[in-house]
Amino acid sequence: MTGPARVVVVGAGLAGLRTVEELRARGYAGSVTLIGAEDRAPYDRPPLSKKVMTGEFDDTGLRADMDSLAVDLRLAESAVELADGTLRTDVREYEWDALVLTTGASPVRLPGGGPQRVLRTADDALALRELLQPGTRLAIVGAGWIGAELATAASGRGCEVTVLEAAEAPLAAAIGAEVGIQTASWYADAGVQLRLGQAVAAIEPDGVALGDGGWLPADVIVTAVGVRPAVSWLEGSGVRLDNGVAVDAQLRTTVQGVFAAGDCAAFWSARYQHRLRFEHWDVALHAPEVVAANILSGSTEYDPVPYFWSEQFGRMVQYAGWHGAADRLIWRSRPADAKWAACWLAGDRLVAALTVGLPRELLQARRLIGAGALVDPGRLADPGIAIRDCAAG
Ligand SMILES: Cc1cc2nc3c(=O)[nH]c(=O)nc-3n(C[C@H](O)[C@H](O)[C@H](O)COP(=O)(O)OP(=O)(O)OC[C@H]3O[C@@H](n4cnc5c(N)ncnc54)[C@H](O)[C@@H]3O)c2cc1C
Repeated sequence: MTGPARVVVVGAGLAGLRTVEELRARGYAGSVTLIGAEDRAPYDRPPLSKKVMTGEFDDTGLRADMDSLAVDLRLAESAVELADGTLRTDVREYEWDALVLTTGASPVRLPGGGPQRVLRTADDALALRELLQPGTRLAIVGAGWIGAELATAASGRGCEVTVLEAAEAPLAAAIGAEVGIQTASWYADAGVQLRLGQAVAAIEPDGVALGDGGWLPADVIVTAVGVRPAVSWLEGSGVRLDNGVAVDAQLRTTVQGVFAAGDCAAFWSARYQHRLRFEHWDVALHAPEVVAANILSGSTEYDPVPYFWSEQFGRMVQYAGWHGAADRLIWRSRPADAKWAACWLAGDRLVAALTVGLPRELLQARRLIGAGALVDPGRLADPGIAIRDCAAG
């Protein structure tokens, strides 16, 4: 398979590595350079807040064979500018025929001069784990996916955990307050103190200054209030930025020959008729298939049913689709049950589903969402009827 002579990939995380793998899997024989700001070879992030934090894993390396991939791997090197067809890093300049942006996202930090930790990299995780000793007072700012997973691991390690959340429910930004609030009791059951509606003013040396003038003393403070796409270095490059790198359905940016994928890319979804950016492992895994195909003269579109999972408080939480398109929420079972599911509809079309401890239901829902199926809302509300049997007509 021929193609551009030189491909340069910026960002050596999952999406970057997968781009290289997919190019080679398609027979691309030209030169590939993979540039990463971290000094580690590509590794997986989901275990960092799970089995790494509990101490079951240390290393989450993706175990790619860089020699057989024939990739020029440049670690501890950051791209700083893209101008006039040249990529500049803090080490040197690169010429390219195709350029792929897979720089992921960086955690948001809060004001204040205290020692504020985040959980994004392997170094973050390993350093934080050392501090999670029995009796450590851990304050986590943010009851999102990572805050919940960290609270799970830290309470298991015997820490005194308090989670501060500005919204009225955990996971409110991710899945909406009506569904997110159903997870609030999980915190108390695990001995974690969850304070909802609790804004934070600043991270100070010995604790958290609260928005209402209060004070939470803490030994360790982790800010887990979300991430921003790592794209500021692209300002002025001609690559359009709109909540990340704006790409079309073929994952092409506004600059000829430049593509983007993974957490940093906001792609046009034909399925949802919306520009969407996800921080989902599954997107970083699969979008590079489309990038590689299109670098090699393809015209493939990326239009997934997005998928995310989280392991928290002994439960497997799974989400498929995008409920931003929905006008109705249907409960399939009562959240008070150990296992439950919620489905979002746009009209009678299933657009998203969340399940707790029901992986088969999630799989069936994902298929129906993928098929754009109309469903019978009455049947969908009956947990005795399998989701696959809820298609209308
Ligand atoms: C703790 C944690 C737990 C998670 N758990 C889950 C989960 O349970 N389920 C799920 O679906 N998803 C989960 N995710 C999200 C998932 O890991 C991400 O969606 C995925 O890692 C995105 O891959 P990526 O390659 O796009 O970006 P990243 O993994 O962020 O990789 C981007 C790389 O680019 C580098 N980079 C940035 N800027 C530059 C630059 N200018 N020059 C060179 N290199 C640069 C970065 O240092 C980074 O190494 C989790 C994420 C974290 C942090």
